[in-house]
Amino acid sequence: MAVPSAADRGAEREEMVRRQLAARGVADAAVLAAMAEVPREVFVPEDLAAFAYQDGPLPIGYGQTISQPYVVARMAEALELRPGDRVLEVGTGSGYAAAVLSRVAHAVFTVERHAPLAAAARERLRRLGYDGVTVRHADGTGGWAEHAPYDAVMAAAAPRELPAALSEQLAVGGRLVAPVGDPLGGQSLLRVRRAGPADFRTEDLGPVRFVPLLPGTGEERRE
Ligand code: SAH
Repeated sequence: MAVPSAADRGAEREEMVRRQLAARGVADAAVLAAMAEVPREVFVPEDLAAFAYQDGPLPIGYGQTISQPYVVARMAEALELRPGDRVLEVGTGSGYAAAVLSRVAHAVFTVERHAPLAAAARERLRRLGYDGVTVRHADGTGGWAEHAPYDAVMAAAAPRELPAALSEQLAVGGRLVAPVGDPLGGQSLLRVRRAGPADFRTEDLGPVRFVPLLPGTGEERRE
C-alpha cells in the first residue's frame, strides 16, 4: 500500500473524528479539534503508519500499545479539561495522548517506566513542537510529586487498585480518570473528583480494557 501524503492524512483524521469520535458521542469541541490536529501516524512505528487512523490500538514495542483514538478522546473529554489546566499522565507510551492533552490543557507532565519509550516519546514530541509536554522516565505509581497538584490526572495503564499518590496529587476540584482492575477479571474506567481536601468522589464510567500498570523496572528515579 502506498503511504498517503500528509494532506491525505488530514482528511483521514477528519474522517476519524467524525466516524470514530463524534458519532460515538464525544462532544468536547477542544478535544475533537486536538484529535483532528495531532498526526497519529508519527506516533506509531513506521511500518504501521498506513494503519494510523484505524479504529484500534497498535503495538509500539515492549508489549505496549498506542491507545485507540476513541479511548484517548473519551478519556480526555472525561477529564473536563480547561485551557489553563496542568495535567499528569501515567504511561507516556508513544506520547500521542500527551500531545492531544497538551492541545487542550496548558501543560502535561507524563511519566513512562520503559526508558526507550520515554526517550523516543520525548524526542518525537520535541521534534513536532509539543513544548507543553514534559516526559520523565519513572515509575508513575507514585505520580510526579514535584509538579503537583494537578487539575487532571490520566492513567493510560490499569492498576489493580488506584495508587493513593495519584488522588493525593489532585488539586481540589481536580479530576482523575483511570482504568482500574484485573487485566483478566475486567477493568472499569473510574473518574475521581476531589471535591474537598478529604472529599474524593468516584464514578464508574464503564468497562474498558487496558494494559496493566506495572511496578517500576527498578532503574527509574523515585521521588
Ligand atoms: N498514552 C500512550 C498509551 C500507552 S500504553 C500513548 O498514547 O501511546 C500504557 C503505557 O503505560 C505503556 O507505555 C507502559 O509502559 C506504561 N506503564 C505501565 N506501567 C507504568 C508505570 N508504573 N509507570 C509509568 N508507566 C507505566
